Amino acid sequence: AFEEGPWRRMAAAERARLLYKLADEIEKRADEFAQLETMDNGKPVKESRWVDVVQTVETFRYYAGWCTKLEGETNHVNDKYFTYTLREPIGVVGQIIPWNFPMLMAAWKLGPALACGNTVVLKPAEQTPLTALRIGELALEVGFPPGVLNIITGFGPDSAGSAISNHMDIDKVAFIGEDKTGREIVKASVGNLKRVSLELGGKAPNIVFADADIDAAVRGAMMGIFFNQGQVCCAGSRLFIEEKVHDEFMSKLTERVGKMRQGNGLDEQTVIGPQVSKEQMERILSYCDIAKKEGAKLVCGGESPKGDLPNGYFVKPTIFDNVRNDMRIAQEEVFGPVLAVIPFKNEKEVAEQANKILYGLSAGIWTSDSKKAHKLVSHVKAGTVWVNCYNMFDPQMPFGGYKMSGYGRELGKHSIELYTNVK
Ligand code: ADP
Repeated sequence: AFEEGPWRRMAAAERARLLYKLADEIEKRADEFAQLETMDNGKPVKESRWVDVVQTVETFRYYAGWCTKLEGETNHVNDKYFTYTLREPIGVVGQIIPWNFPMLMAAWKLGPALACGNTVVLKPAEQTPLTALRIGELALEVGFPPGVLNIITGFGPDSAGSAISNHMDIDKVAFIGEDKTGREIVKASVGNLKRVSLELGGKAPNIVFADADIDAAVRGAMMGIFFNQGQVCCAGSRLFIEEKVHDEFMSKLTERVGKMRQGNGLDEQTVIGPQVSKEQMERILSYCDIAKKEGAKLVCGGESPKGDLPNGYFVKPTIFDNVRNDMRIAQEEVFGPVLAVIPFKNEKEVAEQANKILYGLSAGIWTSDSKKAHKLVSHVKAGTVWVNCYNMFDPQMPFGGYKMSGYGRELGKHSIELYTNVK
């Protein structure tokens, strides 16, 4: 479909029309997609509808707009030669995505790759294939030429995942997942030196200064760690609180957390659902044990709920206080609803600790002093820094990591760089 097919040769406006059409068809079926996503992943259906489906549609529309805006340059080198550049699709792109935002991650990947004229083989995570399959089905119905958008299900190692990352006819692989898997993808890429972009884990510092709007920061801290059951690579899992407001902050936080309604993701009242799998639940609970052994103070949670939630892989919203930045609970990605609270004395101390981590995907800063905020924004080694907000996304704004959180920036015009060659 890439070499011989019509996709990269068709009018850019026609590619755009198909992507807009796909977005419209997904939007029309918002309820169906929300249900599917929740059945697969467990997340609250309200979030599936208002976050995952809405942002998926917006992402496809945003990249539909790019189809007609891809440009080369004419460069005046001298009067003797005529020089210009072309921006061309890379070819066949392999995309391997995780289970935490199955349809949204599919949109982040498919939108720009297709807009640029590539053909795609996308592998959803083995736990959550349904919405990607449904998107593939709709793409055929709205008129994408066969072979342009391919959804292949299967496992990672020794299966569909490694088949993609090793394949000599795949020109680029884009991956989102654990850093351990990211290394395997890079190793596999050496066969044909395929282009690689990686979006890996994180352990974000979320920093609350005493001069912040404390109620807003409490809500932001909760959004930072409990959204999507904490299964978010940019989760604000290291919460630094200035000592002066620590007690006030913690009492407000625990009061609110105590009121969170945990339950079946399909229940409209649920705000925190189950983890994606038994394996993840056990991994999270084992980190709770580690934190206790390290001497962190358990404030709430740390176990699965009993009583009326006997079925399902639930973990109670968990907060550990008096954590030190060098403890494992502060350094390793738990990927669950487990918050590590680290009290700090002053700006200098927190600035140092924020960067003492192998990851660098995101950070949060809460303060009413904009000078302090901007200073820290430039100091923190992270691809995204939110000030007085958290987990805010828009297809226009780039996302990606420093350090072990990966390389390449997605979204905005940055994805266009990832999916084109310059000739
Ligand atoms: P998680 O632990 O969160 O499931 P992974 O990094 O294991 O994260 O999985 C993310 C995606 O990578 C999934 O689609 C999975 O099937 C795939 N995957 C896992 N291992 C490999 C591998 N060795 N090669 C290619 N893909 C893999």
